[in-house]
Amino acid sequence: MEHRSGFVSIIGKPNVGKSTLMNAYLGQKVAIVSPKPQTTRHKIRGILTLPNAQIIFVDTPGIHNPLHKLGEYMVKTAISAILDADVVIFLVDVSQMPDDEDRLIAQTLKERCKSPIILAMNKMDLLTPDKVKPHTEAYLALGNYNDWILISAHTGDNLDKLRDMIISYLPPGPRYYPEDQIADVDERFIAAEIIREKALHFLHQEVPHSIAVVIDEFKDRSEDLSYISATIFVEKDSQKGIVIGKDGAMLKKIGQAARRELEILFGRKIYLELWVKVRRRWRKDEEELRRLGYIAPKI
Ligand code: GDP
Ligand code: MG
Repeated sequence: MEHRSGFVSIIGKPNVGKSTLMNAYLGQKVAIVSPKPQTTRHKIRGILTLPNAQIIFVDTPGIHNPLHKLGEYMVKTAISAILDADVVIFLVDVSQMPDDEDRLIAQTLKERCKSPIILAMNKMDLLTPDKVKPHTEAYLALGNYNDWILISAHTGDNLDKLRDMIISYLPPGPRYYPEDQIADVDERFIAAEIIREKALHFLHQEVPHSIAVVIDEFKDRSEDLSYISATIFVEKDSQKGIVIGKDGAMLKKIGQAARRELEILFGRKIYLELWVKVRRRWRKDEEELRRLGYIAPKI
């Protein structure tokens, strides 16, 4: 068979399992996953190289109604991923009935998407038999899809079928990336995301969404030791206190968890230093967003 390749954007509202799906295909944690919505802020590409095809997955922030500038950036990023895609996977949580957010995305796809769309109904492991028919029918009624399938990114059910389905819609083309590359993000970026993930894991309420992580220094001290210094930005002094914790206990927890995971991912010892700084209202400020690396794509 002719070699095929292309960009496959995973589109869906927050928390339906977009990052989990991409990571399942790559067998590695490229995009951070969290039970809190809006964990993914950037477009992240994950590359799956097979003998007959190369699929470049684009994991996107969930589309939702923007509440602030960061939200706007996330929505623009998701829409630009629809326009750039060779194939779009519209991912939904089939254990629930569609809601307004699903309808908004279905409508956006109708208006903006020119590529084949596969409706992938995720979390089938949570779907009770009596709900299979009403739920699948409700999602299918949202639009016209080239194909549809029930999957579980969590258990792996039907992921091989979805993969073959994706390949059947990809155009013929060469490999875009070397076969051993699994992501287009570098270690600096991964380090920042893992630190952010651990912060999200340990923190609650409004703090998680106010966090940005910037790597200030990333140096290989030797073949098996890297030094990383990173700053966690928050929006208020009170949040700074929470992130640091009593006698620095919270920051220590975040740092230890991040270091452990980075050592496994990078296969070497990591010396990690964390700082916490306040950047007032950074999510609402275009200039701050750019400085923190959230540069809005043109659409
Ligand atoms: P995203 O916001 O769409 O990227 O969603 P995430 O990938 O961060 O996943 C959100 C939550 O749903 C996480 O707690 C995942 O573990 C969970 N999840 C994802 N896929 C499945 C699935 O197929 N079954 C179940 N039971 N949980 C899932
Ligand atoms: Mg995500």
